Amino acid sequence: MNISNSQSSGKEVSKLLILGPCSAESEAQLLQLGNDLLQFKPDFIRAGIWKPRTRPGHFQGFGEQAIEWMLALKKTYGFKICTEVATANHVELVSNAGFDAVWIGARTTVNPFYVQEIAEALKGAEMDVFVKNPINPDLFLWLGAIERIQQVGIKSVAAIHRGFSFYGNSVYRNIPRWQIPIELKRRLPDLCLLADISHISGKPENLLEIAQIAMDLNYDGLMAEIHPNPSKALSDADQQVTPAYFKKEIADKIILRSVQTSDSKFNRNIKSIRSEIDQIDEKILSLLSERMALAEHIGLNKKEINISIFQPDRWDEIVERFLHFGKAMNLSEEFIFSLIEAIHIESIQHQSIKMNK
Ligand code: PEP
Ligand code: MN
Repeated sequence: MNISNSQSSGKEVSKLLILGPCSAESEAQLLQLGNDLLQFKPDFIRAGIWKPRTRPGHFQGFGEQAIEWMLALKKTYGFKICTEVATANHVELVSNAGFDAVWIGARTTVNPFYVQEIAEALKGAEMDVFVKNPINPDLFLWLGAIERIQQVGIKSVAAIHRGFSFYGNSVYRNIPRWQIPIELKRRLPDLCLLADISHISGKPENLLEIAQIAMDLNYDGLMAEIHPNPSKALSDADQQVTPAYFKKEIADKIILRSVQTSDSKFNRNIKSIRSEIDQIDEKILSLLSERMALAEHIGLNKKEINISIFQPDRWDEIVERFLHFGKAMNLSEEFIFSLIEAIHIESIQHQSIKMNK
C-alpha cells in the first residue's frame, strides 16, 4: 500500500489496499479510474458486478457483462481484481474468468446456508477470499463464515470490517463497534483484518477519521470506494470519492504507526507506567471482591426476612452516585453506566448464590 510513511520508528509500515468503485459501470469507467489509481499501488481493485440492494427497484449491478470490463482493467494495468459473490453461480463465473479474489458481502455473511454454498463452490479455487462482517453485530456469525471458507481449504482468507446496521441516529452509515473486530483478531491473531472505510463512514468527511482509527488499532489494510465522478455513481454516490480526493484527504494525511519499537528509553518508560497500571488493576479487583463479600452479607440478611434481591430505589441511588462521581472524575457517562451495570450483575449473582443455596 502506498499510504506508507516512516514516521517515528524509521520503519516502513506496509498495509493492504483495496480500491475501486462501488459498482462496475462500464469498461470506460474502469479504465479511466484504473489509470488514476496506479499511483496508490493497490493490491486489488474492487468493483461490484452483482449488487445486493436493500430495496427493489434500485440499480442491481450490470451482472455478467461487467466481468469482461474487469478483465480489461486487469489486462491493461496488471491489477489484481475482486468482486462480491453471493451465490455459487457467481463464484463459478468469476473463478472461471480468472478473478484474483472475491468478497462475501455483509448481507450474505448473516446466512450460514449461503456461506456454505459459496464455500463449496470455492473449493479448489485459487482466489483469495474476503469475508465482510454480517450486518448485525454478531461476532460468531462472522467467525463461522470465516471458518466455513477455511474448511474447504482456502488458505488466504481475510476479514473486512464494514460496520454494523442500527436503528437511530449516528454520524456513521454503519456503526463501527470496534470491540467486535478487536475480539475477532484476539481469537484469530493471524487473520488479516481490513477496514472498509466507505461503508462505515457513509460520507467522505468521515473517511480519514475511520481510516486513522483502523490504522491505530493495527488493522492490516483498508478498502475504500473510489469513483471517477462520485455524484454520478449508480450506487453509493454519497460515500464514494475521486482518486484526487483520496490522495489529498486520506493517503497524504493518514499516519501509520508501528506496533513495536526497539527504542529502549521508550520501552523502559512504558514498562514502568504499565507496572503502575497493573498495581492499580489489582487494587480495583481486590476492592471489587470486598464489595461482593458485602453484597453476600446483605443477601443473607435479606434471606432471613424474605426480601427480594433487586431493590429499585437502591439501584437508582447507586446509578445517581456513580454518574455524579464519574463526572467529577472525568469519566464518560457511557463508561460509568457499563461499569455499574457489570458490578450490579455480579453482585446479584453473588447474593443469589447465598440466598438460594
Ligand atoms: C459493497 O462493498 O459495495 C457492499 C455492498 O458492501 P457491504 O456488503 O459491506 O454492504
Ligand atoms: Mn458500496
